[in-house]
Amino acid sequence: MTDIIQLKAADVAVCGGGPAGIGAAIAAARAGLKTVLIEATGCLGGTSTSGGLPMFLGATTGSVPFPKMVELGLKYSELPHPRKAVGGIFDLIVDRIVAAGGSTGICRVPQTDKYPGLDRMGCHDDFIFDIETGKRVFDSLMEEFGVTLRYYARVIDVKTTCGRIDGIYFSDKSGISYLPVSAVIDCTGDADCVRHAGLSTVKGDPETGAMAIAGLVAHVENVDSAAVEKYLNEGGDPWFKPFCAKARADYPGLNLPSRLIMFPMPQPGVFMINGGLSWGGYDGTSGKDLTALTIRGRIEADRITKVLLRRYLPGFENATLRSTAAYPGIRETHRIVSEGPLTEKDLLEGQEPDGIVALGGRHFDLQRFVGAGSQVFAEKGMKVRGGVAGIPYSAMIPAGSQNIIAAGRCIDAEGQALGPARVMSTCMATGEAAGTAAALAVREKKRFIDVSVTELRKILRLGGAEVDI
Ligand SMILES: Cc1cc2nc3c(=O)[nH]c(=O)nc-3n(C[C@H](O)[C@H](O)[C@H](O)COP(=O)(O)OP(=O)(O)OC[C@H]3O[C@@H](n4cnc5c(N)ncnc54)[C@H](O)[C@@H]3O)c2cc1C
Repeated sequence: MTDIIQLKAADVAVCGGGPAGIGAAIAAARAGLKTVLIEATGCLGGTSTSGGLPMFLGATTGSVPFPKMVELGLKYSELPHPRKAVGGIFDLIVDRIVAAGGSTGICRVPQTDKYPGLDRMGCHDDFIFDIETGKRVFDSLMEEFGVTLRYYARVIDVKTTCGRIDGIYFSDKSGISYLPVSAVIDCTGDADCVRHAGLSTVKGDPETGAMAIAGLVAHVENVDSAAVEKYLNEGGDPWFKPFCAKARADYPGLNLPSRLIMFPMPQPGVFMINGGLSWGGYDGTSGKDLTALTIRGRIEADRITKVLLRRYLPGFENATLRSTAAYPGIRETHRIVSEGPLTEKDLLEGQEPDGIVALGGRHFDLQRFVGAGSQVFAEKGMKVRGGVAGIPYSAMIPAGSQNIIAAGRCIDAEGQALGPARVMSTCMATGEAAGTAAALAVREKKRFIDVSVTELRKILRLGGAEVDI
């Protein structure tokens, strides 16, 4: 065992640099905390960059489940967006990415500006951006706000005394480092730090343990977008089901998907494949499963491009595989057991407004292996009351903890409530709330649970965040 490298103390360690970690680190540093952001990969953005999915959903209300849109022949560009659900740091990031030329703004996609018919492929109630521009903008914001960034560093343990975290251990090429901290924000997506601290978490469905499907996103290029638009304008199925059925019949041994959910990316002729490259039965916290999922994803992305897209789909005759994601897309693993969860009942029947520190505008959309269907509430036409999901502060605080808080997809959201809570704009908003709460907790030497939510909501509002349902 090598000697442990002792680092200078920080006020707060933000662990994981996905959408939640970005929001948390900026908020904490902006509030004056000495902030260190530890990220396992070589870029910020998490699933939006490393996962190949540069689409922040949930920033506005008014989203409609895609099958419903197809059934009713609705276009995303025509959907009303009654209200903004996420502001604050998210707005800053949107502005910077747009200014850097990486997007044309919320609910806009450059390819559909040119070919409006592509709109029928979906997801325009979100912010879609160029991944490389996003990575550079995230880096520059960390520098601007004075966040100390450690890439290629994975948090492997925490040191606790009487339930309080004294510091975190992380591993990188330099060896194992120990960073003393006053507070920890767990933005790992998998509640890694919470688990290292010995606090309770729950994995997947509490009854069955089943988790949402996982996959490996791919991008294809050299697509004739005009031809795809023509096909869609003529009423073609946006999930390309008839072509998938024909290809499956022609190649029964290849296990090709029965539908393809693809989205036009900002770059001309580039499309992202999401649906069609996800499967059940993989555990995103198993190293073995993550390896198997990555290898399978690469094989299937190549096969789908060469066999299904090129031979069957209009406009994709010359498509080539541009990239597969740097790591698999994991929708759910461990969530914290909190001081007070976000429940399904909350979202269906209305919420107590005073405890809310972040909002989400997304409908119920989580594909889970529960009951008879994968998106039970969406399939039954059930809606989030008022169209906006409020995230209670209590759902971010691990039960019985002192100086650790969680943000992003590992917060305590029950069942189908995880759908609206785990989309990326809302993850960034919970990150902003956690970073802001950390400043209050550290300065006032309080446990997270003892921070005044009234004060927290006031500060968040002043920063442009949306906290009022
Ligand atoms: C296939 C798929 C499609 C989706 N589609 C959309 C969509 O279109 N729009 C949308 O808004 N949401 C979508 N989601 C959901 C959304 O991407 C996630 O819920 C969201 O990214 C969660 O954000 P996060 O910051 O909590 O975690 P993540 O984005 O998972 O980021 C976690 C970060 O922490 C790092 N990390 C993990 N463990 C450690 C550790 N121990 N030490 C240091 N770093 C660590 C990771 O490298 C990563 O950078 C999709 C998810 C999947 C899987």
